[in-house]
Amino acid sequence: MTITEQKEQEVKRKSKLRRRKVAPNRNKKIKPSNRWKKARKAVSRLQRKVSNQRLDWQHKVTSDIASRYEIGVTEELRVRNLTRKAKKGSKRNRQKAGLNKSILDVGMSTLNKMIGYKIEAKGGLLLVLDTKKVKPSQRCPNCGKVHKHWAELSNRHHVCDACGFEIERDQGSALVMYQVAINQQPGDGIALVNVDASSSTSKRRNCKDTGSLKQLHF
Ligand SMILES: [Zn+2]
Repeated sequence: MTITEQKEQEVKRKSKLRRRKVAPNRNKKIKPSNRWKKARKAVSRLQRKVSNQRLDWQHKVTSDIASRYEIGVTEELRVRNLTRKAKKGSKRNRQKAGLNKSILDVGMSTLNKMIGYKIEAKGGLLLVLDTKKVKPSQRCPNCGKVHKHWAELSNRHHVCDACGFEIERDQGSALVMYQVAINQQPGDGIALVNVDASSSTSKRRNCKDTGSLKQLHF
């Protein structure tokens, strides 16, 4: 359970309390009641607490990861895409809503950024792979075949129909990214030099040429 989930009930409860007080209304020339002001303060205090706790947690997790690894491999997360609503009328609506919430809850893009600058700060390297080209969650780590239906989030266990390789979805994605980073992932056009991988160092120099990666000998 995420931090926000724990506090969510409390925020809801306090917001509800606030709605019972006399709210300001400019048209009707109603001033906010003292109780309303007080209740509003309580809600915002709680929300601030939640966001501070989340920030603490993010720093803890990312410092821990950054301290253990010299090289980080991640994909360019498009949180806005990830959290896109499920199609109207889709059975997955509720499921997707829950997932979206948890993606936004932990603050994926912040985690990504934090890991990046922390690894970089200690002289390590962060590789950011192009998700569209690598397709970590759709690609078989063993033979490189891309399976479109693996993209379905409900598809947790992947079995490759080309080579018979089996792996859990998340492990498979991580394995593909790792193998791309060490240039050992089978598949066409996903050699490290082809996938527009950018490294933290090339980004810092603000140069678009990703060719600097070619100099890395994995
Ligand atoms: Zn395969």
